Amino acid sequence: MKVAIVDGYVDEPSCLGVPPYVSPYPRYIKGMLNYLKIPSAYITADQVREKPALLRNFDLSIVVAGAIVPGKYLAAKPLSLEELTLLPGEKVVVGGVALELERRERERLNVLDFPFEGRLLKYLLELSGDKKADVDFWSNIEKFALLGSEVVKEHPHYPHLICEIETYRGCYWGKCSFCIEKLHRLRQRDPKAVVSEIKTLYSHGIRHFRLGRQTDFITYLADFSKDFPRPEPEKLRNFHRAIWKNCPEIKTLHLDNVNPRSIAEYPEESREVVKTIVEYQTPGNVAAMGLESADESVIRKNNLCSSVEDVAFAVELINRYGVERGYNGMPKFLPGINFVAGLRGESGETFELNYEFLKELLNRNLFLRRINIRQVKVLRHTLLYGEKRKVEIRLKKHRKYFLQFKRKVRESVDREMLKKILPVGTLLKDVRCEVFEKGITFGRQFGSYPLVIGIPGKYERNTFLDVRVTGYGMRSITAIPPLDLESANVKELETIPGVSKKLARRIAAEARVSRERALEILKAELRDDFERVSAFLKV
Ligand code: SF4
Repeated sequence: MKVAIVDGYVDEPSCLGVPPYVSPYPRYIKGMLNYLKIPSAYITADQVREKPALLRNFDLSIVVAGAIVPGKYLAAKPLSLEELTLLPGEKVVVGGVALELERRERERLNVLDFPFEGRLLKYLLELSGDKKADVDFWSNIEKFALLGSEVVKEHPHYPHLICEIETYRGCYWGKCSFCIEKLHRLRQRDPKAVVSEIKTLYSHGIRHFRLGRQTDFITYLADFSKDFPRPEPEKLRNFHRAIWKNCPEIKTLHLDNVNPRSIAEYPEESREVVKTIVEYQTPGNVAAMGLESADESVIRKNNLCSSVEDVAFAVELINRYGVERGYNGMPKFLPGINFVAGLRGESGETFELNYEFLKELLNRNLFLRRINIRQVKVLRHTLLYGEKRKVEIRLKKHRKYFLQFKRKVRESVDREMLKKILPVGTLLKDVRCEVFEKGITFGRQFGSYPLVIGIPGKYERNTFLDVRVTGYGMRSITAIPPLDLESANVKELETIPGVSKKLARRIAAEARVSRERALEILKAELRDDFERVSAFLKV
C-alpha cells in the first residue's frame, strides 16, 4: 500500500500551514506512517490542482484541510471544499474542515472529527492490521514528530520553508463563545522534545521556525496549578538557550499567539518573558493577541478572556521592549490584534468602540504590526453553534458597519502605523521574492505575519533582496533595492521618493557619462534631502 499525504494547508486559530509555512500535521502524519512502515509521499494542494492525475499512483490519500480562519495568501491557495469533493481515489480527510461540515457530508467524504491525530492513528493501525492497537497519539507525539520531520524535503518550496512548531495544546480559559480550542485537552510538550524536533528539522536544512502552535506562548512551561497559569521566565529562557545551542544558524525564530490576560495577571513575570523573546527570538516578531471586541457588553456576553484594559496593558508592555529596530530592518517584537465581528451583543456602537481603541493606541504612539478583522465563522462544537442562524442574521445586518470599520482601520490606522514603524528609506533585509504580477514583484521576509512588499520590476522567485521603503499601501509597502546610478533608467530613478520625473531624466542621462557629475546635480537640486535620497543608491 502506498499513501499520499495531501497537504490542503490549514489555517486555524493556533496553527498555520499555508506555504511557506508547514504545519506540524503532515509532519506527524508522515511520522505515523513511517512508524507503521507504510510507504508514503507528500503532495501539496497546489501540486494536485495542477496535476490531479498524481493521485493515481496511490492506494489512499490522507488529506489535511481546513482554513477555518482564512487569511489572504500570497503564493499558495488552500484546498477548497469543492476541490476536496473532487479529489479522485480512496481518501480519508483530517483537519479543521471537520468543524465546517455537517455529519452527512463528513461521512460522504470520509472526514475524521477534529482534533484528528488520535483518530487517524487508530484508523491507520486498523488499516495496517497492526496489533499494537493501544498506541496512543499524545504519548508518542515526540516519536512521530522526529520520524516525520524528513517530510519537509519533499515540499516543493524546500528549503524556503518555515516550520510551525507545537509547544502546547488547549487553552486555560477555553470559554470564548466562538473558539474551538476547548476541544484540546490542556497539555504541554516537554521542552527537550520540542528542542529535539527543531534540531532534527534543522539537520534537514530548515532555518526558519515559528513557535506558533499554542494558544499563549507566554504560558508555555508555566505553573498551571493557579487559576491563571503563572509564567516561568527562567524556564522559557533556558528553552530558548537550548534552541540556539543546538541550532546556531537559525535565521528566523518567531512566535504566534499570546493571551493578553496572562500579561495583565502577571506583569512582572511577563516582562521577563518579553525580554527573553526580544533577546532570543529574531526581529520582525509578532505577538498575535485576541481582543475580539472593545465593547464591554460583547466581552461579557461571549465570555471573552481579556478586557480592553488587559489588551492595552499588554500592547504597551510589548512596545516598551520590542519597538527597537532589529538587524533585518523590522522592529524586534510588536503586538498584533484580532477583532471578530458577529459576536453576541454586537451593535453599530461596537465598531465605533473598536475604532476608538485603535485610534487611542495610535495617539499614544503604541504600535501594532498587524490588525486582523474578520467575521466570525460558526464552527461545530463552539458555544455559538447552537445559535448559528441568529449569528448569520447579525452578520448580515451589521455588514455595512463591518466594512466601514475595516476600511477606516486600513486607511487611518494601518497605514499611519506603517509610516511610523517603517519610515521612507528604511532598509529591509532578506526579502524573498515570491510572485510577479503586472510589473511588480511581491516578496516577504520570513516570519510571523510578514509584511507584503511590492518591488517594481521582475525578480525571479526565491531571489533574496535588501530593499528600501518608498511608499505605503493599506497593509503593504513598496520598496526598491539600491539602484546602480550608472545603469538605472528614468522609471527606476523616479521611484525614489523626492526625485521628480524631470530630475530622473537629467540624472539618468548625466550618469551614463559621469557618475560624479550626476551626483553633483543631485546634491545641488536636492540640498538637505540629498543624504536621504542617496541612501537609495548603490555605493
Ligand atoms: S482565550 Fe478564548 S479565544 Fe483565546 S484560545 Fe482561549 S478560548 Fe480561544
